[in-house]
Amino acid sequence: MDADVIIIGGGLAGLVACNELVRAGKRVAIVEQENEANLGGQAFWSLGGLFLVDTPMQRRLGVKDSFELAWQDWQGSAQWDRLSGTHPEDEWARQWGRAYVEFAAGEKRTWLHQQGIRFTPLVGWAERGDGRAGGHGNSVPRFHVPWGTGTGVSGPFADKAREAASAGNVRFFFRHRVDGLTYDGGTVTGVRGSVLAPDASPRGVSSNRDVVAGFELRAQAVVIASGGIGGNHDQVRRWWPERLGTPPAKMVTGVPQHVDGRMLDIADQSGVRLVNRDRMWHYTEGIRNWNPIWPNHAIRILPGPSSLWFDALGRRLPSPGLPGYDTLGTLNLLRTTPDIQQYDHSWFILNQRIIEKEFALSGSEQNPDITNRDLKLLLRSRLGRGAGAPIEAFKEHGADFVVADNLADLVCGMNGLTEEPLLDYAQLRRQIKERDAEVRNPYSKDAQVAGIRNSRRFLGDRLFRTVKPHRILDPKAGPLIAVQLHVVTRKTLGGIQTNLSGQALGHDGSPIPGLYAAGEAAGFGGGGAHGYNALEGTFLGGCIFTGLTVSRSLAAAL
Ligand SMILES: Cc1cc2nc3c(=O)[nH]c(=O)nc-3n(C[C@H](O)[C@H](O)[C@H](O)COP(=O)(O)OP(=O)(O)OC[C@H]3O[C@@H](n4cnc5c(N)ncnc54)[C@H](O)[C@@H]3O)c2cc1C
Repeated sequence: MDADVIIIGGGLAGLVACNELVRAGKRVAIVEQENEANLGGQAFWSLGGLFLVDTPMQRRLGVKDSFELAWQDWQGSAQWDRLSGTHPEDEWARQWGRAYVEFAAGEKRTWLHQQGIRFTPLVGWAERGDGRAGGHGNSVPRFHVPWGTGTGVSGPFADKAREAASAGNVRFFFRHRVDGLTYDGGTVTGVRGSVLAPDASPRGVSSNRDVVAGFELRAQAVVIASGGIGGNHDQVRRWWPERLGTPPAKMVTGVPQHVDGRMLDIADQSGVRLVNRDRMWHYTEGIRNWNPIWPNHAIRILPGPSSLWFDALGRRLPSPGLPGYDTLGTLNLLRTTPDIQQYDHSWFILNQRIIEKEFALSGSEQNPDITNRDLKLLLRSRLGRGAGAPIEAFKEHGADFVVADNLADLVCGMNGLTEEPLLDYAQLRRQIKERDAEVRNPYSKDAQVAGIRNSRRFLGDRLFRTVKPHRILDPKAGPLIAVQLHVVTRKTLGGIQTNLSGQALGHDGSPIPGLYAAGEAAGFGGGGAHGYNALEGTFLGGCIFTGLTVSRSLAAAL
């Protein structure tokens, strides 16, 4: 035996499982196709937002939350509907969903604190939903941002695994790519694969796939923690569901290339049951990174509620196409409305006042104030004048930004970014003026303006995220800004079906002895704990919860 447990993937899910197994006295091998610089996987690059329920941080901002409300929101978002027949796809997904909300309302915060994760006072109101109390979305703010962003979440787990390696309890096999599972009878006994040529590329940069040798490792159990498919557009297209129309011809990429989905197909071919593969979580607010790290690298804008959103033909999006409300509702709108399906982009129109307070960019490297734990910079960049430096850099260098002092010039610049001019100045002007007429009174029939006022009733938004309603065309709030938005691929919501112990199930629905799965590869638990929609900040937590569950089951079983 090379170890008690082999973990495929050194991302967050793999690291959490590893550390808990070491704590239980087990010897672990982490097999990772990338080099050591990539330890931590996607979590390093993430904003680090964590879904927590009924916390002191929420209470300090006046938020009243509870398990019951969170579970109502989760079910309204998940909309699990594959629950009938033998071994239905949502059988374990729903149970994992509930267990995860219990974790988020219970043990999670204290456990994270014990691991060294500390939170900023910022609690964001992500994914406000589709406008129905029982439908998709967060009724209250729950997106807790930790100091260090993604690095502050992945770092403590990576450090602990390195310490365990120094003590001889963990062996890292970097540049080792798993190509298959090995079985003895019906039991998984190890992995086989290819040793890839050394590659000194920095974290996140694509590495070579030159095979220099083969390898085999044996253990009492194997955990698949290999992530999702978001870095592989062929896979995204292959599983794109009909309900979201057709995938855009051009998409941009929100994850490193190693999020390739390859291991999921290998698992499938080895008798493992994958479910809900048509459920994914891609954003419509992607902008091309002017300073890319991985191929086709894009950043997601986390928009506050005030930017006006237009389709490629310049028509304001109807609800639920409001910034920050309903990710897949908006994607559906853009991909299924007949006369715009052929276009791959949409537009935000806003002004300097809005960008300064309302634009945030997802990613650790885009938030140096929080990533570097710099409180002074945080207060200056979030409360002071001017947009933060990363946002100004995008405004200046980003291929998707147009800045102009008047609407005619703005529209001209926007038309310059498409193959043919699609936007009509008079049509855009009319719609913006109609909207601007709605901010005169403290009430409004415009759903977005009403939403802005609602948002400002939450202290966190009033302080950090939502400008006072004002006219977009007010010259004092200028210059005007337009942003061309693209679909950015990110998360995989389906995956390996697991039972509540994290055991991977076979094609016949029964557990495969010796095989477990965690993180995005397991659809964050059960092959689809989010169902159709996520409440945000639930992915890192999903890696932590599934990694923890698998390791606890294994510690008890071995
Ligand atoms: C920019 C960005 C922002 C994000 N923001 C947030 C946020 O604020 N909140 C939130 O909850 N989530 C966020 N996420 C999502 C979250 O980071 C990921 O869902 C999560 O980190 C996935 O972790 P994982 O361990 O399951 O997989 P990964 O991090 O993808 O790790 C899997 C590892 O397995 C390796 N691997 C794959 N196949 C093989 C193989 N065959 N052999 C060997 N190794 C293999 C890969 O190289 C990789 O290192 C964000 C993600 C990104 C990229």
